[in-house]
Amino acid sequence: MPLKPLSEYEAAAAQAHGHMCAGQILGLRMAMYGLRLLGIDDPVGKDRKRLVTFVEIDRCATDAIPVVTGCRLGKRALKFRDFGKVAATFCDTGVQRAVRVSVRESAKQRARELHPEIEDRNRQQMESYREMEDEELFCVQWVRVKLGPEEFPGFKAPRVTCAACGEGVNFKREVVVDGRTLCRSCAGESYFEPLG
Ligand SMILES: [Zn+2]
Ligand SMILES: [Zn+2]
Repeated sequence: MPLKPLSEYEAAAAQAHGHMCAGQILGLRMAMYGLRLLGIDDPVGKDRKRLVTFVEIDRCATDAIPVVTGCRLGKRALKFRDFGKVAATFCDTGVQRAVRVSVRESAKQRARELHPEIEDRNRQQMESYREMEDEELFCVQWVRVKLGPEEFPGFKAPRVTCAACGEGVNFKREVVVDGRTLCRSCAGESYFEPLG
């Protein structure tokens, strides 16, 4: 199934995300642009195993990206790096090419210029982000992304057990500290503190 027009993705995005918003338009367009730059035209069909997407923010735009790419966290094809940026990198693993698409800082200002008659900011941006050219809306960087076999769906390796907490760790996410094999949490990257 080839890429669809933006309007057709919008309904699916609104359903997945819970509402339609400017971030959804940005996410859909980022993904469509990234795939076009890579020359991937059937991300949910014949090309579905080629694509891995990195997203850099846990905001609206991120929810819209899988609507186009089909890349999902639970399928290991969507990777989250929390950089707080409205940006995503689309990797064609078949030919080792990757392109990072980020929203230009000027986009909001441009939306104000394009549609000063629309008072509601979200609506103003939605309308403008539908109309703006890709080049006006986004910066593009061709990049190299190193993806080891452990990053892909289907990767098989023995699960190791953390020497401190005893929990199993998959996909080579363990670290060795002073000769002990630890999960990243016990190695000091934990985001929680146990109570009691
Ligand atoms: Zn939203
Ligand atoms: Zn542990």
